[in-house]
Amino acid sequence: MFRLLASALLLIPALAVAQPKIAIIIDDLGYHRSRGEAIINLPGPITCAVIPQTPHAPTLAKLAHDIGKEVILHMPMETDGYAELDVGGLREDMTQEDFVSTVDAAVSRIPEARGLNNHMGGILTADVNAMNMLMASLGEHGLFFVDSRTTPQSVAGNLARQHGLAYAGRDIFLDNERDLVAINDQFNQAIALAKRRGHAIVIGHPYPETIEYLQNVIPLLDNAGIKLVPVSSLLNRPQMAKAKPAATPDPAL
Ligand SMILES: [Zn+2]
Repeated sequence: MFRLLASALLLIPALAVAQPKIAIIIDDLGYHRSRGEAIINLPGPITCAVIPQTPHAPTLAKLAHDIGKEVILHMPMETDGYAELDVGGLREDMTQEDFVSTVDAAVSRIPEARGLNNHMGGILTADVNAMNMLMASLGEHGLFFVDSRTTPQSVAGNLARQHGLAYAGRDIFLDNERDLVAINDQFNQAIALAKRRGHAIVIGHPYPETIEYLQNVIPLLDNAGIKLVPVSSLLNRPQMAKAKPAATPDPAL
């Protein structure tokens, strides 16, 4: 079935843009040690998103960091429906003090993290007040933000920009359906987007099907002209956009 990917790659016409880039974030790391290790050992710069207060979070984050993988916090946030909030998560009814200390606890448990994305968060990422508190905390810690976009009502990306943080948003969920053909379809969508726009951000999970798929497909990307990058390579950087152009060229440059 991995030939499907190769044929899809050939069918999409290459445009005269820079080499298309794809970042793959794997969420929900920390509950399963062996699945986490399988993700960390994938042959490429996968971004590892670790739920801070899970049993294997510190070990997996350190392991990922030590072999050169990018680590981010996968922060549980209050959501709608019946899904239970994971331990160490952020809720809408928290005081500012509790909110900040919950983020601080996550950062100090996973010091390897360079950024944060949301786990669930259907309610919280739509809450301007909560996202203001979150982005202020991320600014203090020097972390970037990736909106997992679990709700169309999310204000998180906008607030990250207003706070001057480097930020990005998820384009494609890889494995909402845990099935190799469905995963392949989603990944081909990401490739098509990256070829059109130059880049795409994919989020997957440490399911056996996803692990098997990525083990087989990542080694094909180079030959297909796709560059796999850590998500920090694909961030919008509002600070730079706001910077005034220099009046005269800097001779040192
Ligand atoms: Zn998650």
